[in-house]
Amino acid sequence: MTLLPQTRAIVTGAARKDGIGWAVAHLFILNGAQVVLIDLDQEMVQSAATELGAAGAIACDVSDQGAVRTAVAQAVAPLGGLDCVVNSAGIVNANRLSDITDADWHRMIDVNLGGTFNLLQSTIPALTEGKNASFVAISSMAGMRGGGLLGSSHYAASKAGILGLVKGAARELGPAKIRVNALAPGIVDTSMTRGKFGPDWEKMLLDQIPLGRFASPDDIAKACLFLASDLSCYMTGVTLDVNGGYFLH
Ligand code: NAP
Repeated sequence: MTLLPQTRAIVTGAARKDGIGWAVAHLFILNGAQVVLIDLDQEMVQSAATELGAAGAIACDVSDQGAVRTAVAQAVAPLGGLDCVVNSAGIVNANRLSDITDADWHRMIDVNLGGTFNLLQSTIPALTEGKNASFVAISSMAGMRGGGLLGSSHYAASKAGILGLVKGAARELGPAKIRVNALAPGIVDTSMTRGKFGPDWEKMLLDQIPLGRFASPDDIAKACLFLASDLSCYMTGVTLDVNGGYFLH
């Protein structure tokens, strides 16, 4: 049984083979979805689409509202509509509060929170016409615990902002039959984290995770599949923790 039959989807941040967006696109395609990929680099996103058998590839900076509008129109045309969006594009930075420059602050908020807003606002018209319409925003455990690992306070603020945006959007878009949910991963083994902790810190972190390992991108993709599919048809405005029990609250 496939969980996303006849589902037309956009997945952002999908160009890196070891990343969450790639794993989401891969699992969605295996489950019958047609997927258009969005990421920063044209060559990388095109090659990802070719390897994954995606329906399209678009280079776009999600922090640029005009570019996102154009990209969404370019994606929806060949798909013939839109049922699902997963916004996984994001950046991280570990600067201490006193070292965060104005430019760092604005880039973090513009990409992580602004990017989510841009995708959400631009896809509402198409999702309103979609079936079992679902928007999944990738937040982070950092948004709830205040960063403290590889992401510092501006990262935490951008990811916490996503949680508020998702709740407001869920409230507003429920009557249009669009579900809006957030997924909050713990530590995921991607290029964002790999080799960044050092052996001692990594051991200490693993000791604190009840399931005893970092997440794989596939672990996150499976939770995304749940939020995108009919399995979660009565869920909107939730934050789904996928952290191996590391952050229990
Ligand atoms: P990743 O492998 O670095 O993937 C992020 C992708 O987003 C990259 O392909 C990146 O392109 C792209 N991107 C960055 N800025 C963009 C922009 N302005 N417009 C369009 N695309 C952009 O990282 P990941 O670990 O898969 O992270 C995916 C999401 O999960 C992020 O939102 C991250 O904050 C979140 N998350 C990750 C973890 C973790 O432990 N890995 C934990 C919690 C939450 P470039 O590489 O070319 O810049």
